[in-house]
Amino acid sequence: MKVRILGCGGSFGSPLAWNKNGNIDVNNPKNHRTRSSVLININDQNLLIDTSPDLRAQLYNARCTKIDAVLFTHEHSDHIVGLPDMRAISLINHSIIPAYLPEDIREIVTRNFKYIFDGEKDYSPFMTVKKTYDQFNIGNTKIITFKHNHGSIDVNTYRINNFAYSTDIKNFYENDIDKLKNLDLWIVGLLRYDPHPSHAGFDQINEYIKYLKPKKTLFTHMTALLDYEELLSKCSENIEPAYDGMTIDL
Ligand SMILES: [Zn+2]
Ligand SMILES: [Zn+2]
Repeated sequence: MKVRILGCGGSFGSPLAWNKNGNIDVNNPKNHRTRSSVLININDQNLLIDTSPDLRAQLYNARCTKIDAVLFTHEHSDHIVGLPDMRAISLINHSIIPAYLPEDIREIVTRNFKYIFDGEKDYSPFMTVKKTYDQFNIGNTKIITFKHNHGSIDVNTYRINNFAYSTDIKNFYENDIDKLKNLDLWIVGLLRYDPHPSHAGFDQINEYIKYLKPKKTLFTHMTALLDYEELLSKCSENIEPAYDGMTIDL
């Protein structure tokens, strides 16, 4: 399995705008972050988690022209609004691409992007809705998913073998954190050092890591308050900030 960080920025990306650099060193390319998304290559399939507003450029940089399925974490715009960019991928491969949408976001996503799923006038649909279950298969790949808390809404964590992706996380429900034991790689959202009403802060995320002890942990969904080198210097062994274009072989 190969995992590529397509983007590891928060909803604004990083930096915020021209000359609005927050705490980052803009001369370090690792601080230039597009919105969060990850590409997984497993069993000869390319699985995409979320369609960020930067999707077209992210796939271009990854030299990726084929997506076999898209998994969605939640309905926030920074994870959804790149959906129209899937049209090119559909055209290139003459394929209708499955979109795995958890039940609670199915209605809002399909309503907002009706033409993508239902077609409109001269435009054919290019994606199809698939349901998610606690466990399901895409081809030969087993996917495990569950909800975690993100303030006023929930987000799906996805686990594939010993890799898991938990973006936009505030808390786990009940004992769900135990579903993330024995991970080789955990990619987890860290918005900023301080806690946010919808996102856990650095100390809380580190408590999760201490409990789970993944072989490797990468932070994603970072604002321009988090400088790559500064954050790295605060991280324990086997924990580091991700950067756009980073690839991990598992
Ligand atoms: Zn987000
Ligand atoms: Zn969110």
